[in-house]
Amino acid sequence: MPTPARPEGELIFIGPPGVGKGTQARLLADRHGWLHLATGDLFREHVGLGTELGKLAETYMSKGLYVPDEITVGMVRSRLSEIDAGRRVIFDGFPRTVAQAGALDALLETLDRHVARVVLIEVPRDELLRRVGARATCTNCQTVYSLAVQPPKVNGVCDRCGSTVVATARADDAPEVVRRRLEEYDAQTKPVVEHYSGRGLLSRVDGVGRMEEVTERLFKAIAA
Ligand code: AMP
Repeated sequence: MPTPARPEGELIFIGPPGVGKGTQARLLADRHGWLHLATGDLFREHVGLGTELGKLAETYMSKGLYVPDEITVGMVRSRLSEIDAGRRVIFDGFPRTVAQAGALDALLETLDRHVARVVLIEVPRDELLRRVGARATCTNCQTVYSLAVQPPKVNGVCDRCGSTVVATARADDAPEVVRRRLEEYDAQTKPVVEHYSGRGLLSRVDGVGRMEEVTERLFKAIAA
């Protein structure tokens, strides 16, 4: 049997809450057949299913705090053990701490994979605060829209599957929780940006503008 081609290397999207990284990562993954691995989505799935992991994660998420590293890394390890060899992974919202970045390197090495590029999406803070309060989600395929930046083409109708889109400020989009999430980002995730920048893997992309424009900027940064 032919050995699968060695993957081009994995991608990481980093950015504060509301920057649009989830929407963009999902879009690019769909377009290119990559696997979109978003730890926030995985935690929300566990919360929805009422698993032990979900119950534990929710105690942190509801306060805007990061879930402890060992729990987060364990969940990623288990997800990575199920993926197809040769399929590129785009990590969204992981790693968020320097310890998670180290754990990811070790994990990828065991799978003969590596990080190819880390993209930091940047948006001014007042714009972030405007965006997080204006989320909407498709009730069927869960596509997330920003009513402030890119609403569905037809009001209330999903561009992707035609089902109903409803305004869904997430429980952790409440202003005081958002403030905590931004503090966590500044304290714990900014050092991750420095970590990858020091390794020459970081690209910075301006996240302001029409969604398609930002997608193209991101794609260029990945392909560079
Ligand atoms: P997100 O959807 O990426 O904004 O994540 C929502 C929440 O899930 C975060 O505020 C954290 O509580 C938790 N979370 C997601 N990813 C991580 C991570 N890599 N490390 C720790 N906590 C995380």
